[in-house]
Amino acid sequence: MKPLKLKKAELYRLLVEEVRDYAICFLDPEGRIVLWNKGGTRLEGYKKKDVIGKPVDIFFTEEDRLSGLPEKLLIKAREKGRVTDKGWSVRKDGSRFWSSIVLTAIYDDDKSLVGFTKLVHDLTEQDKERQDFKLLAESVPQLVWSADANGYASYFNQKWIAYSALQPSTLKGDGWMNLVHPEEQQKVKEKWAEAMAAKENCTEELRLRSKTGEYCWFLFRCVPIKDTAGNVVRWFGTATDIHKQKMEVENKTEFVSFATHELRMPLTTIKAYVALLERCRKDGNECDADKYLRKTHVLVDRLNTIISEMHEITKAESGQMLLEKKDFDLGSVVSEFSETIQQAHISHKIKVKDCINVQVNADKDKIIQVLSNYISNAIKYSPKGDKVVIRMEKKDSEVIVSVTDFGIGIPKYKKGRIFSKFYRAKNARKYEGLGLGLYLVKQIIHLHKGRVWMESEEGEGSTFFFSLPLDQQLPTPEQ
Ligand code: ADP
Repeated sequence: MKPLKLKKAELYRLLVEEVRDYAICFLDPEGRIVLWNKGGTRLEGYKKKDVIGKPVDIFFTEEDRLSGLPEKLLIKAREKGRVTDKGWSVRKDGSRFWSSIVLTAIYDDDKSLVGFTKLVHDLTEQDKERQDFKLLAESVPQLVWSADANGYASYFNQKWIAYSALQPSTLKGDGWMNLVHPEEQQKVKEKWAEAMAAKENCTEELRLRSKTGEYCWFLFRCVPIKDTAGNVVRWFGTATDIHKQKMEVENKTEFVSFATHELRMPLTTIKAYVALLERCRKDGNECDADKYLRKTHVLVDRLNTIISEMHEITKAESGQMLLEKKDFDLGSVVSEFSETIQQAHISHKIKVKDCINVQVNADKDKIIQVLSNYISNAIKYSPKGDKVVIRMEKKDSEVIVSVTDFGIGIPKYKKGRIFSKFYRAKNARKYEGLGLGLYLVKQIIHLHKGRVWMESEEGEGSTFFFSLPLDQQLPTPEQ
């Protein structure tokens, strides 16, 4: 090794002065600049002659100067030995850049303060990347999070907060894991640990608890971000809402099994009645033959309803459900239909309260179909009840019809889904049905530009409503 021509002190001075990526200056104990490097000129725009002897304040924004930040940092550095901060630095031309500052107190052998070194690093690029990531993370429909190399989650986008009503301080670390459904928690923990060990992506379907307490299905995905050496530097994760798709698949599977049962059951019974009818014919037993014929008719009607519902749904979904509208008095239709349905159901008293005469322009048969669905559901789902109450009300520019029962009601969190296709609440599954009626009601009423909704308490009963617009002239299907 060649002997160095320069003295050590000179070497240190050169080392500091020549650094270009950091603005480095030396401050005296009062915070005045005594040494300034080339990085300082490059980053902050000041030449050596501009700054020597000036207070450190010149690099701070007016707001920071007014709040006394430069003095506070010097005091803290003196007390603690070193202080770091992030904030705006001001260039000679008045422009600002986002920077990190490290202020270190320097003491001599007698422990008296010699001054401070101040090191400034331009974070514009890093900050831009961070801002871009945040913008992206806030603009996607997913819940987005990021964690450090050890899997410690520290960033959660607003969608997490909106979904869970929990702040990042509660979600951070593995706080978010408390939102995972207990049935999936163990699996998720294992998968996450495996992904971290293997430094690989991981994907899992799981349920997360929302602020209402309801669990919804999400597709959870974590991706490791690696440096050039293959070390994980961060983890990014997303949770995509797949609840609707999951429920549709679940409901469809249930529908197929319900439909098979619902179609097979009347068919098997019809077959049995046909066999009995044959025997009656041989025996000449007219009386029993009439009884079996009546029963067969009921079952054929039931099959017909199921098949018609399926057909109507297909028509509604392909936009082929047309309305044959005419003007009629809704009050008369409600009371006449209630009387008709009463004759077929002696178990419940069907009371029409507040019946009003009101002209509507609608498809009468379809409105009867809606009434029929609401009333037969009210009877079916109140096996211990003995009455169903129908009310009418004129409000603003619509007429509202409601059907109230005192039956099993609907479990709390499922109310929003009750009008969806194939949906059947858990407490309703022992009653016959396909989960198509209310969906069809919704389609019919929406075609009339009306509304459907319900109110219910599990174990207490339910009220189903529909409304039809009054003053608005509805377009006819041909228009
Ligand atoms: P279905 O009665 O054939 O199952 P619907 O579409 O008519 O189909 O109703 C969907 C679901 O809504 C039912 O399975 C049941 O869970 C619930 N529901 C409808 N009406 C009532 C009611 N009056 N009381 C309690 N639950 C009801």
